[in-house]
Amino acid sequence: MNEGTGLPCPRRGACEAAAAIARDPALSSYSRVYCEGRHDRCQRVVQLAAGHDVDPRLLPDGRLLPDPEREPVAYAAARGRAPLPPDEQQRRVALLRHDVLDTPAEADLDELTALASELCGTPIALLSLVDEERQWFKSRVGLDARETPRDQAFCAHAILQDEVFEVADATEDPRFAANPLVTSDPSIRFYAGAPLVTTDGYRLGTLCVIDRVPRALSDQQRRVLRVLGRQVVAQLELRESVRVLTRQTRALQANRQELVDAFFEALEGDEREDLQRAFMSRLTHELRTPLNAIIGLSELLLEDDEEDPLTRRKDLTLINSAGRHMLELVNGMLDLAAIESGADAVKPTRFDLEQLVRDVVALLRPAARRGNNTLRATVDARVETVVSDPTKVRQILFNVLANACEYTEDGEVTLAVTRAGDERPRARFEIADSGVGMSEEQLARLFEGFTRFTDSHVRESTGTGLGMTITRALCELLGGEITVTSAPGEGTTFVVELPADGEPG
Ligand code: SF4
Repeated sequence: MNEGTGLPCPRRGACEAAAAIARDPALSSYSRVYCEGRHDRCQRVVQLAAGHDVDPRLLPDGRLLPDPEREPVAYAAARGRAPLPPDEQQRRVALLRHDVLDTPAEADLDELTALASELCGTPIALLSLVDEERQWFKSRVGLDARETPRDQAFCAHAILQDEVFEVADATEDPRFAANPLVTSDPSIRFYAGAPLVTTDGYRLGTLCVIDRVPRALSDQQRRVLRVLGRQVVAQLELRESVRVLTRQTRALQANRQELVDAFFEALEGDEREDLQRAFMSRLTHELRTPLNAIIGLSELLLEDDEEDPLTRRKDLTLINSAGRHMLELVNGMLDLAAIESGADAVKPTRFDLEQLVRDVVALLRPAARRGNNTLRATVDARVETVVSDPTKVRQILFNVLANACEYTEDGEVTLAVTRAGDERPRARFEIADSGVGMSEEQLARLFEGFTRFTDSHVRESTGTGLGMTITRALCELLGGEITVTSAPGEGTTFVVELPADGEPG
């Protein structure tokens, strides 16, 4: 069996249900959904494979098509009911995840629905979400009902496809002619629904427009409906992101004390107490600032329905960058704690240093380009292969080179790898930039942690200020050292020396 491939069902030629479906255009959606793709879910296939005598009226979703002669009303109703989408279960999970069913009206969404009605020239427009047994209207223009049974929902048909689903005259369409929404209030004649497709591909419902007279949309109106539908999804997904962020932020807040305790455990020795105290006070400040921004902005977004979409997007961008900054801080702290506590053990390996340097430089090319810098690296043939911990060497080089690129503009950053040490070979990495350089006071604080020198640098730094602290800790862990020389306006040169002849682990 060709599962979900879009190929026709292999039983189709001999299938009486397929023949009935093909004869009746009103049942064409069955053929699209099952016979040309998801016959792996077809109840006919299941029963045929089990050797049963199968009723030819058995439809792919397990229902029996009523006899049109003896049960005309049931037959008409059956034809009007849309089959379930093949991904119904996951689709419903996605709908519930958005936590929007049975929530109050929202101005942003009402505006989009009103715009759909206005631009398509219809008296009714709905933002309809297709639930298990009903369609529920999050937003509505020109209709009092809050929901209708799914059996009667035009939107249940519309969510079977990606394109706008259109019915020019429901009284002429056998799927809908007997539908109570057509035969009585609101007396639907014309329907057009743009499916609301989430970024992960689930069709939650539609933004639809309805008229009481037969008609058709122009190409432009169809396009407008599609675009407005995408805007509705964007709004729903923004709300979802804010909720997730708020949840995560609260969890992070709860874990902050745990992080602080872990950090204290990782540090030892009385002589470091002052340093610990200063470091912790900086850490608390560094974590509190983005946390306050995230909580304040997300609460504003949740409370303020009136905020215009542009301001909303700007606020969300700020929340996102504050969240990312916090994550980097926490990761940096965990890295540092792991190094200090010895949990991050050295894993000596023989590796190709030249290849590693090439990889790091390739990764940093975009950063160099952003500052309009040239980035060059050379590796002495005598240290092309070394024994050390490649992951840590990569991180050291990445941190120092990224720093050099960040604080240089319209200049150059170079890395020269040579051999040092007579008896025991060492790899010497000299990283030089022509950037803004540092004063003596700045040099003295460089490895302290949370050091960013934003006043005197070319661009505002977005880093955590932990990069150089981690770099020095890593150099020491590998038995090496890092030194730096710099002067304001004259660039900076870092020299990292690492043993290159360890025993492979
Ligand atoms: S109804 Fe079922 S068995 Fe018949 S062609 Fe369609 S998928 Fe195949």
